[in-house]
Amino acid sequence: MNGVDLARRITGTGSAAAADMRERAGTAPCLATVLVGDDPASVTYVRMKRSRCEKAGILSRHVSLPSSVSTAGLVETISALSADPKVHGILLQHPVGKHIDERAAFEAIAPDKDVDGVTMHSFAAMSFGLPGFASCTPGGILRLLDEYGVDLAGKHAVVVGRSAILGKPVGMLLLGRDATVTYCHSRTVGLPSIVREADVLVAAVGRPRFIAGSDIKPGAVVVDAGYNPGNVGDVDFETARHRAGLITPVPGGVGPMTIAVLLAQTVEAAAHQLGLG
Ligand code: NAP
Repeated sequence: MNGVDLARRITGTGSAAAADMRERAGTAPCLATVLVGDDPASVTYVRMKRSRCEKAGILSRHVSLPSSVSTAGLVETISALSADPKVHGILLQHPVGKHIDERAAFEAIAPDKDVDGVTMHSFAAMSFGLPGFASCTPGGILRLLDEYGVDLAGKHAVVVGRSAILGKPVGMLLLGRDATVTYCHSRTVGLPSIVREADVLVAAVGRPRFIAGSDIKPGAVVVDAGYNPGNVGDVDFETARHRAGLITPVPGGVGPMTIAVLLAQTVEAAAHQLGLG
């Protein structure tokens, strides 16, 4: 499953909508990014997100805070962005540092600007099947599965990983599509035998080649959300691709979808806030 082509198409649609908005409302969508500290990976992610947005005609406003910032300071910054009518979407780059209450910081994002889908409001809306913004990587995974015509109803979907931004929400989205969902995590007993029963497998662990190809059920749909040093995923692609019916490569599978969904959701948020859609 090729995420590059689909992400390009989603970005193209978002870009056209942003240009249309500029004509009709006299303003383009604006995404605010907030970075705490100078972790090299986070700096790179934020730079990539901003540059993609700018190329698509989305304005970006960047706030960089020192790693010494307090929870109160970060909450104050995010609350100001939430109240600013010129900002339509807010992205707080994770992680923010151990001394900060990350949940409090996320919750300072106004729900209608939560284009990264990180607030409790967004998670609840997504879980109830109500309108709202999905977490970007899970939302991208569902779009990819739809693109390839994967029928999820009645399928056994196994999600390995239960993080708030990836494992948990992707499981809820799969459940919403009538899959029978099993979550696995670091305390799961007998993980390989559960993986072997997956019609649809989502790997979201963060360990290189953690899932062996020999554990993939023949014909299964394999989504590898992992992205580890050396550009490798959580699934051993070379052995898994011979057994899987469909599989995402790393890179070029799930990764590009995350930014495309962020961009699309920013345009959607702006349209809503400007009364255009
Ligand atoms: P995370 O917060 O570290 O969560 C990892 C999950 O894997 C946890 O739920 C953990 O279980 C589980 N786990 C760890 N060791 C395990 C083991 N031995 N057996 C079973 N489960 C185990 O990571 P994350 O943020 O969800 O990210 C996961 C991966 O996705 C990373 O490679 C990350 O780079 C990638 N990612 C990619 C994108 C993208 O845009 N492509 C976006 C986000 C993340 P416990 O809960 O029990 O600790």
